[in-house]
Amino acid sequence: MRMYLLFTGALILVLQIWIGDWMKLKIVPRLLKNLIKKPMTVRFPNESIPIPEGYRGEHEYDKGKCISCGLCAKVCPNRAIEMVQSENGRKYPVIDIGKCCFCGLCQDVCHTGALKLTKNLVSPIIVDSNKKEKSGM
Ligand code: SF4
Ligand code: SF4
Repeated sequence: MRMYLLFTGALILVLQIWIGDWMKLKIVPRLLKNLIKKPMTVRFPNESIPIPEGYRGEHEYDKGKCISCGLCAKVCPNRAIEMVQSENGRKYPVIDIGKCCFCGLCQDVCHTGALKLTKNLVSPIIVDSNKKEKSGM
């Protein structure tokens, strides 16, 4: 009886090692396939992936079309737009890109087409410790 239990235990151990090794061997073809496959990543910034249609990136603002209605600032859910007084007495939108979630509501509400979201990626903002940087227009 004791011999039988020892034999069964040894058999189970051998099977476990064998199955484990077999499972490990199963990844070898996948590894080989991945070695010859094109990488999924690109060498950014030298290479980049095409930006899909409908991507909402950096804002484009045409001051000439702006009628200072302030609707863009009112609709912005993140309060990223501030209407700032200009030298000509009118207020124009200034966007704090750090607060923007690129929802596109400002573009939707701007009926003159002064404010649009482009496919351009947002450039990184370097914040000076003494001077708080804003993406102004
Ligand atoms: S909604 Fe358009 S027109 Fe009105 S303030 Fe904003 S950018 Fe100017
Ligand atoms: S895209 Fe959305 S979050 Fe960004 S400024 Fe416009 S309304 Fe605000």
